[in-house]
Amino acid sequence: MTGYTTIPYTIAYANELVTDPVTFEPYAGRLRLAYQPSVPGDWIKPSAAKSWEPDVLRARVRDLRDKPDQRGPERMRKLNIRRQWRCMRKLLCQVCGSPATDLKSGLIPWPLTKTVFERTGPNSVRTNAPPTCWSCIPKALEECPMLRADFTVYTVAAVETAGVLADLYRPGIFREPIPTAHNVFVPWDAHRYRPRALAVAEVVELHGMEPVDP
Ligand SMILES: [Zn+2]
Repeated sequence: MTGYTTIPYTIAYANELVTDPVTFEPYAGRLRLAYQPSVPGDWIKPSAAKSWEPDVLRARVRDLRDKPDQRGPERMRKLNIRRQWRCMRKLLCQVCGSPATDLKSGLIPWPLTKTVFERTGPNSVRTNAPPTCWSCIPKALEECPMLRADFTVYTVAAVETAGVLADLYRPGIFREPIPTAHNVFVPWDAHRYRPRALAVAEVVELHGMEPVDP
């Protein structure tokens, strides 16, 4: 038993994990990483506003959270990237999956441990950890030892997509993917790396952050 009474929204279940093969395929005069066979939904754009930009290949995963009879046991160390992505794009709570924004203040509560963010300015950071709504924060602290050990709750005024965490590959002699880097930040404007990246999480930049008194 895991000892968890709540399975956080972003945690993956065993039967959601997918191990489809990837390879390099010719695309627009160069090679890009692709699933075999590929479907258009495998590639994700930075945002609807940047529809002309090249896409990034997102690691495949199923979404069976609403199907308890099919999803299998939870895998507490694995994130479901589709639900992580949805949390970032729609600002949903990573624990319960409901909107995280505080309706009264319009600010988003965002607990962060030191290991999941990188400072980009006096009141801004980059992170792949989604927000947590006010009502889930006590529960998250109680049940997540990592969060309890070293965390600060911030309120966040604005969120902007920054890029992805990705595994990088280079094409081998038979276009087979050869790993070159694991879990590295690839900004949306790193055009050279995007065809070689398999995204495993979306990264956002948080602005107007204020620490909240415990
Ligand atoms: Zn919540």
